[in-house]
Amino acid sequence: MGRAGQRVTRQKKLILEILRSTNTHPTADWVYEQARKQLPDISLGTVYRNLSVLKGAGEIMELSYGSTFSRYDGNPHNHYHFVCEKCGRVLDVALPVRTELEEELALKEAHLVRSHRLEFYGVCRDCLEADRAK
Ligand code: ZN
Ligand code: MN
Repeated sequence: MGRAGQRVTRQKKLILEILRSTNTHPTADWVYEQARKQLPDISLGTVYRNLSVLKGAGEIMELSYGSTFSRYDGNPHNHYHFVCEKCGRVLDVALPVRTELEEELALKEAHLVRSHRLEFYGVCRDCLEADRAK
């Protein structure tokens, strides 16, 4: 592999490591700030490009929330999330993935169902406790 190829590999590896080392579901901007600490000349465009490549390869997940920024998840396996409407955090949910929903839909509508995504919204435990302490 040439030097340019090594550089590309190094950037991609670093971005994957950054995502795998956190469960905060960060934005691309946050990943970029972290990556710059180790590769000061990396650009935001490079970060976006690598996030897209990693997503295409099934190594990470992109969680898009309509008009707000996408968040990224280093865990590519389907799992559910809870979005706190107060602090904005996206938290992993300790519930098993209900694959039976996919079968139910496939049976009912005759669609070919490949996957499903489920998000819960509300106020997180930390925010509830902070409110109660006031
Ligand atoms: Zn919260
Ligand atoms: Mn997650």
